Amino acid sequence: MAEFRPGDPEQTAFLQELLDARLLIDSGIPGVYGRGEGFERVRSAFDARVTAAAAADEPERLAFPPVLPRRQIEEIGYLKSFPHLAGTIFSFEGDEEQAAAQEATAERHEDWSEFQTQTDLCLTPAACYPVYPAIAARGKLAPGGLMVDAGGSYVFRREPSGDPARLQMFHQREIVRIGEPATVAAWRDAWRDRSIELLRSVGLDASFDVASDPFFGRSGRLLARSQKAQALKFEVLVQIAGPEPTAVASFNYHQDHFSSTYGLEMDAPDPTAHTACLGFGLERITLALLRTHGLDSDEWPGEVREELGL
Ligand code: ZN
Repeated sequence: MAEFRPGDPEQTAFLQELLDARLLIDSGIPGVYGRGEGFERVRSAFDARVTAAAAADEPERLAFPPVLPRRQIEEIGYLKSFPHLAGTIFSFEGDEEQAAAQEATAERHEDWSEFQTQTDLCLTPAACYPVYPAIAARGKLAPGGLMVDAGGSYVFRREPSGDPARLQMFHQREIVRIGEPATVAAWRDAWRDRSIELLRSVGLDASFDVASDPFFGRSGRLLARSQKAQALKFEVLVQIAGPEPTAVASFNYHQDHFSSTYGLEMDAPDPTAHTACLGFGLERITLALLRTHGLDSDEWPGEVREELGL
C-alpha cells in the first residue's frame, strides 16, 4: 500500500469545506474526488484562459486518452525515476473457474490480484508523454521546431494524501516545445514570465522557484540535486492551504532525454533537438482560486470574473 500522508489541520479543514460546499465529492479514497458544478466551472474557465494565452503562438492542438502504452513507460525510464507513483493496468484473462474464484475473493473484499494479468497499458503519469513519440513518428522537424498544446488530460500519481491539493488523479494542462536547444530555452524563459502574469491576472499571488522532481530512492536524491543545480525544473508556487506554498505549474527542460529516446531530430546540419514542457495543475489552480477569492465564484471580484470569462 502506498503510504497515506495525512493533511495538516488547515488542509483537513479546507477539504471538509470543499466537500460541504459540494465542490468536491468524496469517493472514500483520499485524493480521488468527483467534482461539483461550481468546481468544474472554474476549472474549465482557467483551462480556456490557458488555451487563449497559448493561441498567440499558434500551437498544434493534440489530445490523448489518460492511458499510455506500457512500452512508453518502460522506454523513458519512468520506473527508474518514479516507480512509487506509477499506476499499471491489469485485467482478467482466466477461465470460468478462475472467474468464479476471483468473484468469491472479491465479494469478501480480499486481495484478488492473483487472478489478474498485466496488460499493455499504464495510466498516463504526465500529459506530455504521448506527444514526443507522436511527433518523432513524422520524421525530422523543420527549422524552428513546433509547439504542441496537449490539452488538459487526466494523469495519475499514486500519492494518497489528506491535502486536497495532492490528488491521485488530476488534470494536467500541458504545453510542449520541441526544437533547437536555443529555441526551446528561449521559449521556456518567455513562458515562465507569461505563466506568472497569467496567474497574477486572476488574483493569485504567484512566485517562482527552482525545483526538483520527487525521484525515487538514494540514486534519486542525486538526480534531484543535479536537476536543481542545472536549473532544469522551475515551479510556480501559490499559497493554498497548509504551511508551505503549493506548486501550481511547472516547467521541465528535458534537454535531449525524449529526443534521444524517440529519435527526434531537426532537419538541419546540426540535428540536435531538445524538448521542454509547461504543465498547469488545473485542480490546484482551481483550489487556489477558491481559497483566495472564496468558495462561491459568483461572489468573486469583478476583474477576476471578467478575466476568466465567468
Ligand atoms: Zn510534461
